[in-house]
Amino acid sequence: MTLLLDERHVAMLEQFGIRWQPRAGSIEVEAASAEDHAPRAAPPAAPRGAIELVPRAAGVELMSWDALGEAVSACRACKLCDTRRNTVFGVGDPRADWLIVGEAPGENEDAQGEPFVGQAGKLLDNMLRALGMNRREKVYIANVLKCRPPGNRNPEPDEVAQCEPFLRRQVELLRPKIIVAMGRFAVQSLLGTTDAIGKLRGQRHVYAGVPVVVTYHPAYLLRNLPDKAKAWTDLCLAREIASQPA
Ligand code: URA
Repeated sequence: MTLLLDERHVAMLEQFGIRWQPRAGSIEVEAASAEDHAPRAAPPAAPRGAIELVPRAAGVELMSWDALGEAVSACRACKLCDTRRNTVFGVGDPRADWLIVGEAPGENEDAQGEPFVGQAGKLLDNMLRALGMNRREKVYIANVLKCRPPGNRNPEPDEVAQCEPFLRRQVELLRPKIIVAMGRFAVQSLLGTTDAIGKLRGQRHVYAGVPVVVTYHPAYLLRNLPDKAKAWTDLCLAREIASQPA
């Protein structure tokens, strides 16, 4: 299947120094079929055929917030562009001291274009409220992946590799005092480790020069209520680190 970019996307890619050549310059890959993965929920029907991918916009490491947002919206660097409804860039205060990093958009986030808007998001909102913040003030919320993996399957290494520069640039623009990585996937992606959350909790880690505290994913906490107390301990550690002079 050949996907064509509209004129606006082509013009924007050209601004980033990428010349869109529908056939010669693009990359064709096989679309992931539903059977390729073990989905955690029923996946949407994935079209079989080739997806035309376009190299990620050049110069991400120098982009402004606006340019970065546009680059994410237009991104077709991995196969998730074929099944997403919306990209999910992030939400919050671009001058926040806190950055919360989750895994990837789920169904609700894909539909609304905003991170953590489902049940797990409600729990996250409550956790933030307990810290005197809300999703539009004093905190910024983003994910490792900006597009939903179909059927909420786990992100794949090539998807993370394509998307990570966007998160790194968000961190550089935000320069938060603390990053809270939520859930095994975000933690392991940011810290480049396969260690379990239980082993990594309670310590100050670093990503792109910024202190990182790891904790459980709100979706996990909804299924494991007793661990909420541990998550609160983690957030208190994050608060302590964020209050320290740089
Ligand atoms: N889970 C995540 O990790 N991120 C979201 O945005 C929603 C659910």
